[in-house]
Amino acid sequence: MISRQPGVPPRDSEGLLALSVDVEEWYAGITDLPSDVGTWPSRMDLGLPRLLDLLESTDTSATFFVLGHVAREHPELIRRIAEAGHEMGVHDDYHLPLWGRCEHDFRESVKKALDSVEQASGTDAKRFRAPCFSVDGRTLWALDVLEDMGFEFDSSVFPVHNPRYGFPQAPRFPYRTGRGGRLVEFPISTVRIGPVNIPFSGGFYLRALPLTVITACLKSLLSRGFPGICYVHPWELDRDQPSLPGGVLYRMRHGFEFGDTSRKLEALLRCMRFTTAGRVLAKVGV
Ligand SMILES: [Zn+2]
Repeated sequence: MISRQPGVPPRDSEGLLALSVDVEEWYAGITDLPSDVGTWPSRMDLGLPRLLDLLESTDTSATFFVLGHVAREHPELIRRIAEAGHEMGVHDDYHLPLWGRCEHDFRESVKKALDSVEQASGTDAKRFRAPCFSVDGRTLWALDVLEDMGFEFDSSVFPVHNPRYGFPQAPRFPYRTGRGGRLVEFPISTVRIGPVNIPFSGGFYLRALPLTVITACLKSLLSRGFPGICYVHPWELDRDQPSLPGGVLYRMRHGFEFGDTSRKLEALLRCMRFTTAGRVLAKVGV
């Protein structure tokens, strides 16, 4: 447990909001080829320590989904995450979406990532988030693999329409899945307006939307007793990262409102209380 810091006010929604962090380099999602890793300069020691300091100053625990190659290249940073009391998970070995991959390849890469993250962190890490939220109707086999491997939960399903990802037919709140029903899925939070699920809870959406909208969306979930989960990336706190050539989607994902992210995230963490996904799921009792 992280002790409460003086000056941090009590917050509502105790125990129902999870914060998750996808630990990846600043170029993840732009170039996901393993062969490109190492050809771009690492900036992991910039955004991640800032994020850890922010979590400590706001007395917040989170779940960290770490790429296997990042754990091998920066074991000291991964150990620092675990020593701060956060929950550890894996984000696969390299930042390769599941589309077009086979079960064997996925199982081997998750095993390698798990070994790397557990070795670096010194703790268990059987919790998973797929690169690019790539668990959808085409890749549900991945949940069976994670269940077979004894994973506790997955948080890869984003029940929205998006040009890159999305599984709008999926349930919006935690549910049991996998062949044997032993794996829990914690979908990324959305609000529903009419027949449409609206994203708001992380990444580009968190950077682009006003804080008042984000807190209103979270409070609308909590008012009905539903849990929520938000996500951030260390590179979102690294406003000086190099710009890469890219199209509109790249600029939206990587270039929007960097300057404001630290302040907005801090304001969010000071007005609503977040904890690990594992603690939220235990409280919800899926
Ligand atoms: Zn990612």
